[in-house]
Amino acid sequence: MNIDYPSPNFDERPAGTDIDMLVLHYTGLKTLQEALDRLIDPASKVSAHYVVAENGEIFCLVPEDKRAWHAGVSYWRGLTDVNAHSIGIELENPGHEFGYHNFSSLQMNALIDLSRDLLSRYEITGRNVVGHSDIAPRRKKDPGELFDWKFMANKGVGLWPAENTGKGPWDDLEIWLSVLGYETNNITATLRAFQRHYLPSSISGQADKITRRSINALIDLVGETGSN
Ligand SMILES: [Zn+2]
Repeated sequence: MNIDYPSPNFDERPAGTDIDMLVLHYTGLKTLQEALDRLIDPASKVSAHYVVAENGEIFCLVPEDKRAWHAGVSYWRGLTDVNAHSIGIELENPGHEFGYHNFSSLQMNALIDLSRDLLSRYEITGRNVVGHSDIAPRRKKDPGELFDWKFMANKGVGLWPAENTGKGPWDDLEIWLSVLGYETNNITATLRAFQRHYLPSSISGQADKITRRSINALIDLVGETGSN
């Protein structure tokens, strides 16, 4: 069920800007109401296009053609105005500060339906379906390691590297991470962000073998799909 819940926290997308990214977040507050209150409070200056509740309800806060304010200082594939290029979705979850827990299947299924609809209407490639932590690795953890990116990818939303298929090269990790889209000012933070997304059981920030293989497998996938 979709519920109109308008937020004043948006402005115009710059003329000629394509919507080509999907950015996923968690709300990171104790209750859904607290999160909704914040996302429509003019003083907070934050918003998202949609909020997906744990019971699967979808709140519509900002029209898709407007620029919602969800990404903050961020970077992806050379872009710094991620808000201008993206649709932002918040998922109800208290987050790491207030009792982080699994995302419900009702919530995941609602998110997948919403995401597939967006992907059908905009030119959003799999590699441009990202988490807040991917685009702000030094500041953000959301939607976090409990978010099931593999399940999403299996439903056609985002990419998932095949197990252990990376063929190398094995060095120059910073270069490969930046080819994927990451900023690499702090390589440990970037590795953690990558792991939170693709290797959620080992968020070490270390460039271990499995991490290298996953990065390479993803590079192979991006190359094969030709999605720039
Ligand atoms: Zn966020």
